[in-house]
Amino acid sequence: MRVRALKDILHSLQNAAEAAGRPVPRLLAVSKTQDATAVAELIQAGQLAFGENYVQEAAAKRAALAGSGVEWHLIGHLQSNKARDAAELFDWVHTVDRSRLIEALARHRAPDRAPLNVLIQVNIDDEASKHGCAPDDVPALAAAIAAQPRLRLRGLMVIPTPHPDPEQRRDAFRRTRALFEALQAGHPGVDTLSMGMSDDFAVAIAEGATMVRIGTALFGARPPKEPH
Ligand SMILES: *Cc1c(COP(=O)(O)O)cnc(C)c1O
Repeated sequence: MRVRALKDILHSLQNAAEAAGRPVPRLLAVSKTQDATAVAELIQAGQLAFGENYVQEAAAKRAALAGSGVEWHLIGHLQSNKARDAAELFDWVHTVDRSRLIEALARHRAPDRAPLNVLIQVNIDDEASKHGCAPDDVPALAAAIAAQPRLRLRGLMVIPTPHPDPEQRRDAFRRTRALFEALQAGHPGVDTLSMGMSDDFAVAIAEGATMVRIGTALFGARPPKEPH
């Protein structure tokens, strides 16, 4: 039935894009807390991009699914002391928000691999408890990433303040898109705006998301307390 959920989601993404007159975004299947068997089921059905929050958890799944052609994305906060593992395990990191991390990821990305795809995480609602850089810091971080040949700047990622009504997040998505377009003007390789989750992807797509990160709607509800 996960395969069924995948088809339903792909259909919903298409509908949301059509309704908004926007291109259909890429689907990132968020597989945190799900086991390798659940991921394998979706791989079989053609889903090849997966998002993980924790480096160790991703390492185990990646090993179990070696050779499956999966693209692994880190979407959880990254501590600097895990940058080496992250640079080795992932194809994309969505949560780059400080210059130390940029240097560490670049230093540890092996020369025989493709450059690591990087998104800058923006704390768009200026939440004290949140990770992500201030909107004003985006240009300097972007320049630092662009200066690293082992990294490839692809765009921005955002997690707006949670709100029961997704409409309340529209303004945050809109402000992120404005930042994204400003970034594109200076960095022609920038093509990815990662925003929208199970409960707000339609609003995010209407406001310019090119990649949505969906967990619950694909795999069902996660246990209330997550590991780590
Ligand atoms: C868990 C998570 C998601 C997926 O959220 P759902 O509501 O389950 O779709 C997306 N992005 C990030 C950063 C997450 O941690």
